[in-house]
Amino acid sequence: MGKLEDILSHAIGTVPFYIKNKEYILNNGGGLHSYPIINRNDICGKENEFLSSRFPVNSLTHQTTSGSTGIPVKCFKSHSDATRSGRLLWKCRNWFGKVYPNDKYAIFFLRRFNTDRTINSSPCFVNGNQLNLSVLDLSPERLELYCEALEAFNPNWIFGPPSALYYLAKHIEKRKWSINIPNLKFIEVTGEYSDTEQRKYISSVFKCAVTNMYGSKEIWVIAYSCPNGHLHIVEDNVIVEFLSTENSGRNEVVITGLNNYAMPIIRYRIGDTGKFVDHHCLFPGRIIELSGGRIGQYFLYNNKTLSTSNFYMAVYDLHRKYPGTIAQFQFRQIGNADFEFMYIPGVNFQTGSLNYLEELLYNTFGNMLNITFTCTDFIPYSSSGKLSYFVDARNQQ
Ligand SMILES: [Zn+2]
Repeated sequence: MGKLEDILSHAIGTVPFYIKNKEYILNNGGGLHSYPIINRNDICGKENEFLSSRFPVNSLTHQTTSGSTGIPVKCFKSHSDATRSGRLLWKCRNWFGKVYPNDKYAIFFLRRFNTDRTINSSPCFVNGNQLNLSVLDLSPERLELYCEALEAFNPNWIFGPPSALYYLAKHIEKRKWSINIPNLKFIEVTGEYSDTEQRKYISSVFKCAVTNMYGSKEIWVIAYSCPNGHLHIVEDNVIVEFLSTENSGRNEVVITGLNNYAMPIIRYRIGDTGKFVDHHCLFPGRIIELSGGRIGQYFLYNNKTLSTSNFYMAVYDLHRKYPGTIAQFQFRQIGNADFEFMYIPGVNFQTGSLNYLEELLYNTFGNMLNITFTCTDFIPYSSSGKLSYFVDARNQQ
């Protein structure tokens, strides 16, 4: 049996959501195209429906994914799922020189917890073979601290969002292009849309290859850039379909994980758009091109360069205390310290949750911040066809 057939029959045999839809699926032929297309919202809060009964839940590990709704979705993996997907990702990394999971690397993060589950407030620290750098504040003093930490730690590779690496590269340019990381083999950018020019620039500053990993917490690697700069699908890990949506005129990426047995991901709309392209290339996997998508954003506040993820994290924390209070949201910067929070109330909306959100924002930004709340039933999409949780609206007044 092929990998795909194996995962499909595993899903209709052991996963509650697919057992429920079994008749519909079999009536439509039982192949991949008879499975319903699912969104993040179908899984959110209903993760148990998507877990295979073959694995005891306490034997699984999980990661939490974000997305534009600010409502976390848990993605579960068994040890063998993680091993199989991980091995495929390392194979791609080795296209750029030998690297191993135990090698030293630097990583950018949104949040780290201490062993007692409290939030680690340190912006830069070493944990085993990992140098952790916070992405939330990229002011010049912070970037200087990161340069010094990278030189002292001397990692074999760096992993992070292209926007943060771009800011770091700009800072190094101001240091007269000087950064000394002799062991550095490559930089892997991920998590956001990155264009070729941006990667070329980062590559010229760090004097090493910059690779592009397109992946998701649900299935890990979807595609990886080859040394010729194409984005190749990792076909042993995922089936990629492009679904044309009539109203947007864009082709949405729909993925099916081939190594997710604990939590099968079948025909899952990941929220990106793109297409297949033809290039002659000796590296394995069909080649895709993505159009736009997640873009990392920074804004100036109180003379600091801060990541818009600070807002996202506040809503994430809000949902930990008030699950389901907000369905959709958008922060709009309307003045230097003035912001508007537009929101669509969720099924469990509670008025008190807005006060709590205000408190969380003051904790992050200080009480110079001026926030107004606007309840709405529609938040417009950006030109890239995505709901963006932060918009600079200062020129729209
Ligand atoms: Zn290629």
